[in-house]
Amino acid sequence: MEILFLGTGTSNGVPQLCCNCDTCASTDTRDKRLRASALISVNGKNILIDCGPDFRQQMLTHHITSLSAILLTHEHYDHVAGLDDVRSYRAVDVFAEERVNRALMKTMHYSFSANKYPGTPELKLHEISEYIPFEAAGVEVTPLRAMHAQLPILGFRIGNMAYVTDFKTLPEKTLDQLTGLDLLVMGTLRFKPHFSHLMVDESLTLINRLTPKQTYFTHMSHDMGLHELAEKELPPNVRLAYDGLKIKL
Ligand SMILES: [Zn+2]
Ligand SMILES: [Zn+2]
Ligand SMILES: [Zn+2]
Repeated sequence: MEILFLGTGTSNGVPQLCCNCDTCASTDTRDKRLRASALISVNGKNILIDCGPDFRQQMLTHHITSLSAILLTHEHYDHVAGLDDVRSYRAVDVFAEERVNRALMKTMHYSFSANKYPGTPELKLHEISEYIPFEAAGVEVTPLRAMHAQLPILGFRIGNMAYVTDFKTLPEKTLDQLTGLDLLVMGTLRFKPHFSHLMVDESLTLINRLTPKQTYFTHMSHDMGLHELAEKELPPNVRLAYDGLKIKL
C-alpha cells in the first residue's frame, strides 16, 4: 500500500488569495498546499480520499489515469468540489454517509436524476455508516466517527493506516480503533486554536495517547507557518505532510 498526499492545505489552500504573509510568499514547494486529499494505491487500484476543488490539477500533476473508488469524509466544498471532474474516469464508486450522499444529490442533481444529463460524471453512491467496515476496490476500510465541531464526519482506517481530518474531537470508540497504527494522517490546522479543527498542541496530546509509529499533519493553513520552521517545533515522529509526499506501508 502506498499513500500519496495530493493536497495538504486547509479550505483556503496555501498561498491563500489576497495574502502576502511569509508562508504564502514562500518559494519552498512544501509551502504550496492544495486542498487536502490523498490517493491510496493498493493492488494496482487507486482509492481517493476526498475530492476537493484542486482534484483536476492533482490528477494532472501525478498522471493518475485510473480511479476505482472515492471515500468522502464530509460534504464541505473543499472535500467534494472536484467531483464534477471525475467525468474523465469510468464509473467510480463513491462511499459516504447518507447525509453526504443526500447533499451531493442536491448539488449535482443533474448527475443523479432519472434522466441523467449526458456527459456528467458516473458516480455510484454507496452509503456507509460509522464503524461498519466496507470494501472499496477490494480493500477493507473502516469508517470512524469524528466530530468537526458539531458536524459528525468520518475518518478512515485501512490496515495500519488511518486518515482523519477536519475534526475537533473523537469519540472514545474511535480512539479505541486508532491504536496499533504505523501511520496516522491527522488534520491539524495551525498552532493557534480553532473552533472546528485541531491545533498543534491538541494533536500532540492525542498522539501521546494513541502512540502511532508515525504521524503526518494535513489540512494545514498558512498560519501553520513555514514548513521548515514548523517541523522544528515537532517531535521526530510527527511531521508535516506536503503535496507530493509518498509513503509506502
Ligand atoms: Zn476541510
Ligand atoms: Zn498567508
Ligand atoms: Zn470541513
